Amino acid sequence: MKSFDDFKLNKFLNNAIVDLGYEKPTPIQCEAFPVVRSGSDVVGISQTGTGKTVAYLLPILQDLNYSKQHSPRVLILVPTRELVIQVVDAVNKLAEYLSLRVYGAYGGVNIKGQKEDVIGGTDVVVATPGRIFDLAVSFAIPLKDIKKLVIDEVDVMLDLGFRTQLKNLFDLLPDNRQNIMFSATMTKDVDELIDTFFRTPKKIAIAISGEPLKNINQASYQVKNYLTKVNLLREVLSDKEEFAKVVVFISSKKLANRLYEQLEINGLGLIHSDKSQNSRIDTIELFDKGEYRVLIATDVIARGLDFDKVSHVINFDVPTYPENYIHRIGRSGRAEEKGNSLLFYTEKETEAKEQIEELMKYEIPEIPFPGNVATTDQLIFEERESTRVVQSRNRESSKDGGDAFQDKSEKNSKTNQGGSYHREIASKYKKNRTRGDKGQNLNKKKKNKSR
Ligand code: AMP
Repeated sequence: MKSFDDFKLNKFLNNAIVDLGYEKPTPIQCEAFPVVRSGSDVVGISQTGTGKTVAYLLPILQDLNYSKQHSPRVLILVPTRELVIQVVDAVNKLAEYLSLRVYGAYGGVNIKGQKEDVIGGTDVVVATPGRIFDLAVSFAIPLKDIKKLVIDEVDVMLDLGFRTQLKNLFDLLPDNRQNIMFSATMTKDVDELIDTFFRTPKKIAIAISGEPLKNINQASYQVKNYLTKVNLLREVLSDKEEFAKVVVFISSKKLANRLYEQLEINGLGLIHSDKSQNSRIDTIELFDKGEYRVLIATDVIARGLDFDKVSHVINFDVPTYPENYIHRIGRSGRAEEKGNSLLFYTEKETEAKEQIEELMKYEIPEIPFPGNVATTDQLIFEERESTRVVQSRNRESSKDGGDAFQDKSEKNSKTNQGGSYHREIASKYKKNRTRGDKGQNLNKKKKNKSR
């Protein structure tokens, strides 16, 4: 599909698209439209800026008939208040010629006012998970008629510790609904959520162009284990001239913290979503100014960061989802200069590395492990644990395949329930209380222009 005409939109949506000045659909919009309309569960991998909001809104609005019913039929969950406002704005623009009631709800403002706002009923609710839960359990916004659930920026949501809130919300939603999820990166947590709550979702992902990769020199080292990777990293980083501005990517916050402590080098920064907003801003500033030469970062947090390009990206581990590798190495390559990327992988990570190579249609050249770097057979807890779980799973599979895996996902499940994030958001809300209350006037009821 190349043109909006191919979508066969109703004239009300078509007019809105014309008003918005969109000439043709973006790739994610082309991919998402038929899949979302098919009614099956959908997982979309797409970054902000690709037109993903319109990608899920268009097919939903196309099929949302006029109704006077009180309870909403579409629920869109987003991680922050800012996104609530942004998405409500997008719905309002697309629904300019439709008779549609859309409401945006987020925490930190008086819930009483919100309850009054929705007395007349709503069609589409855009909300942060905590506040919609409160509005639902107090029957202000019943969720029993939700037919379509969208979870936007789910990677950010889970990284910020919203997992429990999401699970609680799912309990209030009818089983017979379509789940649509958008995430910029895939993570273990996102995958687990999909496994638990989605029914054989269709995955749509925008193929990442191979072009930018031409500007990046890629190489890899096969390394025995985590602790040997630490030794190798220290050695590599000892060349301060060559490795002038480096981001070291690692997949979890826990391992990021540990690596930060183990590395023991000067000019080292650490950034992930458990760090306060102020700390993150300071870290980026110090890194950009060159006071930190090396920055350890997790995938999800690094995606939204605005720092100048770096001389080297070091992949301390192999991302399970190949797209994440492309996001990671794209942070390298300054101005006219070529970027550089190193990948450290263990034998166990070979398969994940091969998937990346398949996606890129490029085999990452291998550098022999340097003879001067100390190796060790010692495994860290997580490495021993993953072996134990695999063995246990194999043992159990002849009797009852499910248990061992459950065990593992329990262990992998997040312990962080977002305390620091809530404090961060809470303080933001406090500041904006008055303005936020005014901004709550997002309810929209138009005369029946459309039908
Ligand atoms: P998003 O990825 O949803 O954050 O959207 C990024 C920006 O792209 C928003 O400002 C949209 O208004 C804009 N946009 C969405 N779809 C299109 C399109 N088909 N043509 C031009 N701009 C678009």
